[in-house]
Amino acid sequence: MGSPAARTDPWESLRSSMAGWNWLSRTSEIWWTRSAGPAMVDAARRGRLAALVAFARTHSAFYREAYCDVPARGAGTDDLPVVTKRRLMERFDDWVTDPEVTRAGVDAFIADRERIGDRYLGRYVLWKSSGTTGEPGVFVQDADALTVCDALITAQFEAAGLAQRFAQGMVAHGGRAVLIAATGEHFATVASWRRLRVGNPWLGSRCLSVMEPLPRLVAELNAYQPAFVASYPTMLFLLAGEKAAGRLTIAPTCLWAGGEYLAPKTRLEIERAFDCPIANEYGASECMSIAFGCRAGWLHVNADWAILEPVDRDYRPTSAGKPSHSVLLTNLANWVQPVIRYDLGDSIVVNPDPCACGNPLPAIQVEGRRDDIVALSAGDGSIVRLLPLALSTVVEEATGVHRFQIVQDAPDRLRLRLAVVDAGARKAAWQAAAGALRDYLRHQALPNVRITLDRHPPTTEPRSGKLRQVVAARAS
Ligand SMILES: [Zn+2]
Repeated sequence: MGSPAARTDPWESLRSSMAGWNWLSRTSEIWWTRSAGPAMVDAARRGRLAALVAFARTHSAFYREAYCDVPARGAGTDDLPVVTKRRLMERFDDWVTDPEVTRAGVDAFIADRERIGDRYLGRYVLWKSSGTTGEPGVFVQDADALTVCDALITAQFEAAGLAQRFAQGMVAHGGRAVLIAATGEHFATVASWRRLRVGNPWLGSRCLSVMEPLPRLVAELNAYQPAFVASYPTMLFLLAGEKAAGRLTIAPTCLWAGGEYLAPKTRLEIERAFDCPIANEYGASECMSIAFGCRAGWLHVNADWAILEPVDRDYRPTSAGKPSHSVLLTNLANWVQPVIRYDLGDSIVVNPDPCACGNPLPAIQVEGRRDDIVALSAGDGSIVRLLPLALSTVVEEATGVHRFQIVQDAPDRLRLRLAVVDAGARKAAWQAAAGALRDYLRHQALPNVRITLDRHPPTTEPRSGKLRQVVAARAS
């Protein structure tokens, strides 16, 4: 049930001005640390890790048990055992450091879609994630984690030379901002967006759904004329096509991309179409701001607040320049639900050389989500392009299944591959998915598109072993 009280909280304005001061002090702290050079960044990271580990082993029953053989002093990162999402979610109530936070409590909160971005227990922001690993997770953020995240974004904007663009947008377009995302659930991006909007009611912003047909999104954007547009690279790419064709008439001063791999070529095409730069961010539900893109095409890790360790299948370090099998993440900002040497699952490459842009923070590239945009023929012969994230969201929400693959092998046909072995469950998942996909396609003016169940299971990428959920098989 929705809670109107949560939105008229009399403490909200006080809390938001306090958050403003905290943000300012965190932003200047980040600036001073980084200005002092890599040694100061290393010292900040080491100090924060030691404090987080000490706190976790005192207040989290899970970590106390996991660290029983780890010396209390002088332990390095390598001495700490690796943790996985499955294991942490199984032990949720032991994992968190605040005993008032419980799995039952967060599940009930998450089940209410009216409360996206509201505060759980009056002090935490919650979001859930599925990811292509298929392991559902619920993440609890404390006030300091959120402040650090906001401050990191500000610091990175400065470093990437985008601050002037930001100021232009505030002046010329009243700071109007649009987020185009999967909006119906407690996902990290939309929950943070709602949180910012509640804390900053003067900041104009709108949230649009990736499920909307493209012509409707274009009409809404034209009417709103935003200064900033934030979305997935595939969405910005579709909008760039609309802009180039003259149907989209917005003139944003800055774009923000996240959630998927942004290829250099795609980046150039989007920036050319809009004549403005893209701020590219690498984050996860476990740590919202991990790294930020530079002009040389790399992502610079916020190494004072996050630790990334590229590893092979056996969690041994991968050398710079080589793609890793996975990466271990430590989020130094969030103490309510410590994420320490956590198997994130992404494949990354660390730049072995100093970055051409001059930023001394470690530079990486991320394999990231690389699903295809699907171009389907409508009944009247026109082409309708669909966002891969919209298609995969339809199937996930209808079935609860995360290991699936949608393959386009003809201009008007999609095949669904399901990794469900049990015959009854497979039939139920197929019926639910087919019904939801047909509804979605009808909404996109594509009632003519056929959907069939493929008897083969989803295939993974030969090199990385990763699953792509939406694949457009190239027409021969
Ligand atoms: Zn760089």
